[in-house]
Amino acid sequence: MKLDRLQPLSETAWTLTGAAGAAVKLFATRDLLEAMDEKVLEQIANVARLPGLVGAAMTMPDAHWGYGFPIGGVAAFDAEEGGVVSAGGVGFDISCGIRCLRTNLTLEALVPCLEPLADELFRSIPAGVGEEGSLKLSVAELDQVMRGGARWAVERGYGTPEDLDYVEEYGRVEGARPENVSELAKKRQRGEMGTLGSGNHYLEVQVVERIYDREAAQAYGLAEGQIVVSIHCGSRGLGHQIGTDYLVTLARAASRLGIDLPDRELACAPIKSPEGQQYLGAMNAAINCALANRQILTHLAREAFRRVVPGARLDTLFDVSHNTCKVERHRVNGGERRLHVHRKGATRAFGPGHPDLPPRYRAVGQPVIIGGSMGTGSYVLAGVRDNPAFSSASHGAGRAMSRRQALQRWSGRELIDELRGRGILIRTKSMRGAAEEAPGAYKDVDAVAEVTEAAQLARRVAFLKPKICIKG
Ligand code: 5GP
Ligand code: MN
Ligand code: MN
Repeated sequence: MKLDRLQPLSETAWTLTGAAGAAVKLFATRDLLEAMDEKVLEQIANVARLPGLVGAAMTMPDAHWGYGFPIGGVAAFDAEEGGVVSAGGVGFDISCGIRCLRTNLTLEALVPCLEPLADELFRSIPAGVGEEGSLKLSVAELDQVMRGGARWAVERGYGTPEDLDYVEEYGRVEGARPENVSELAKKRQRGEMGTLGSGNHYLEVQVVERIYDREAAQAYGLAEGQIVVSIHCGSRGLGHQIGTDYLVTLARAASRLGIDLPDRELACAPIKSPEGQQYLGAMNAAINCALANRQILTHLAREAFRRVVPGARLDTLFDVSHNTCKVERHRVNGGERRLHVHRKGATRAFGPGHPDLPPRYRAVGQPVIIGGSMGTGSYVLAGVRDNPAFSSASHGAGRAMSRRQALQRWSGRELIDELRGRGILIRTKSMRGAAEEAPGAYKDVDAVAEVTEAAQLARRVAFLKPKICIKG
């Protein structure tokens, strides 16, 4: 993008020139900004104009264009000052996130089993467009999922109570209102519990290739050469339909209340309005659905691993969402305030000492998980004190080009063969999907992680290299 509309605050933080300037902050280096699409600027400047914004509307180093809000966008609002909630600020895949599991296996020991493990995982994890899970829920059960989250899944025998200690919100958010969720949304979800979905969702077997921070790695139970598993997916059809339904509801509320929307895609309503409250209740139901979904997939992954490697242990390292609006307390100008923090394609990153963290991680900070691509790698980071973005950090490498551009450039088959040559096994039903997700279609994840650290959003703990990727 053109940098003449931006003014550097430091090497890793920028603001917009002109009147809108102070209310916008972009965390990136000059290089990352150059790789970012121009539309990000326009979108984040629009977000900064919404009522009740606290501090600045911000973008993370992996930001790229999204629906209304940029992906990699963070914005906090105060309900007492007319602050709003926006469906576009959460994203359609409500509570999409990453669950990371550490194992008791080393790459060395696993090498002979990689091919059969890839096949077994591919057989066991429902993935791809229209693929249904073995679980078929009644309407009453789906209501329980929406209220109970990962706790519901554990009660049903998927995983263990210990998992819940390492899931954001201990597996369940308050304030879910299944009655605010449309019949269509519920219908779409009935066969989709325990499925990965399509596109950039994945289950990846990775090896810890490098440790950056020994103390945090020890707390997280990570060591070089160890195998870990990452599961990236969200709230499936339910979240998507809630997003679609509430865009209309919130747009109507905005118009009724005379809110001047800089972009129709930024449909929003005051947090205190009936529509705002309705959306938040439905969104929380979708968050619980996503947490339950990743809990079921964790169980399926464990079973698949044990069929191939008897005695394999997969313990939850952490599960964190990157498409949410959450009520949190933050210090602003010396005072503590209760804020609704939108993170769209951004990860919550609580620093050391935060009371909401499990005791095991409290001294080092919350695990922050950044996906990269199926060919490059991913990172585990740790939250830091005095994070300048309402305790938020990057969530991925971020797209460098559109899916369409990627399709024109790569063939899925060739890509998969090339990755196999580099020791990475891909299993997917969609060659087209694989091409769209080519590693080259994403930004440089090493640069994103490095800048995330330099901007004091989080600090690097471990680099993970892919060995097996089940793509949705
Ligand atoms: P999003 O949540 O925005 O859809 O995607 C999050 C991030 O996941 C992307 O920015 C990208 O860097 C990363 N990603 C996409 N596909 C893969 C994959 O197959 N493996 C890994 N490790 N990361 C991926
Ligand atoms: Mn995601
Ligand atoms: Mn998603």
